[in-house]
Amino acid sequence: MELRKDPITRSWVITGDDAPLSLVEEGVCRYCPGSPLMPQVVSTMPPVDGSPWSAQAVVHPWPLYHIEGDPAKEGFGLYDNMRSVGAHEVLIENPHHDRQLWNASDGEIEQFLGLVGQRVLDLKRDLRFKYISVFKDFGAVAGQEFSHPTSQLVATTFVPRRVLYELRAAKEYFSEKERCVFCDIVAQERAEKQRVVDTRGDYVALCPYAPRVPFETWVLPLSHEARFERTTVGKPGVLCELAMLLKRTLNRIRAVADGFHLVLHTAPNSVQPGAATLGYWKTLDDDYHWHIEILPIVPGKVKSYTVKEVYFTPVTSETAAAKLREIPPE
Ligand SMILES: [Zn+2]
Ligand SMILES: [Zn+2]
Ligand SMILES: [Zn+2]
Repeated sequence: MELRKDPITRSWVITGDDAPLSLVEEGVCRYCPGSPLMPQVVSTMPPVDGSPWSAQAVVHPWPLYHIEGDPAKEGFGLYDNMRSVGAHEVLIENPHHDRQLWNASDGEIEQFLGLVGQRVLDLKRDLRFKYISVFKDFGAVAGQEFSHPTSQLVATTFVPRRVLYELRAAKEYFSEKERCVFCDIVAQERAEKQRVVDTRGDYVALCPYAPRVPFETWVLPLSHEARFERTTVGKPGVLCELAMLLKRTLNRIRAVADGFHLVLHTAPNSVQPGAATLGYWKTLDDDYHWHIEILPIVPGKVKSYTVKEVYFTPVTSETAAAKLREIPPE
């Protein structure tokens, strides 16, 4: 496996003819407590209801990225490539096989969010890694890999394209207005109310003004914060509101979609030596604002959003937010 950079869009892709094939799950679940197939455990969160643990990070059984070695960035004429150095983990959201983020207890979801923050912080200490991605693919239509409730984490030696676009745009907006663009979006949406789905404590769920897919929903903190992982450390209880809002929002999404992609966008590793050359380190804490993006896969609507040049979304965000608000969240 190797990483190649597209010289036009400057985005990295991972490719190789030796891609690890995920094997079909054999009877026994790999991620239930006590499973003989449980991969190597990286981190464990304390139990909340008598189970041996509440959430757990393990090494991905078929990792696309490997933790050892140097990225060995090379150029061949106009092309750049590097080895697929990184970390690839499975984040087990709950010890119970049937407790998803929308039917687990708030306390369990809080533990999972704490685990996410802890893993991001820990991997950011490795200066080879520029970015830590955390995502969840739910439903066969979304390419869900395991039946147990899980998310995945990938630490990479590059910043993924979408995040890079956001970072550049946020920095530009800040240099012009000395304000965070996400704070401004939240303020305007809360004033207009049309695209707001729900609010719980310091968190809001809203449908973005220019959605890529029907019912696209973002969850953001109302108070400015660039780094998700900072929210989760040393402030016990603060994640409860986020857990509640995430649960309510996913319940609504599930009522309109067969599956979804969920991704956490947080600030990149700014202590990374290459951060200075990327030029985003100075105002990063002021201009970026972490958030969760949920991209539902709605039956009969647009199937793939990645290949589209211009997104066509047959449901406006005002209609989407109005419909989502009507759905009982529990
Ligand atoms: Zn299981
Ligand atoms: Zn902000
Ligand atoms: Zn984002």
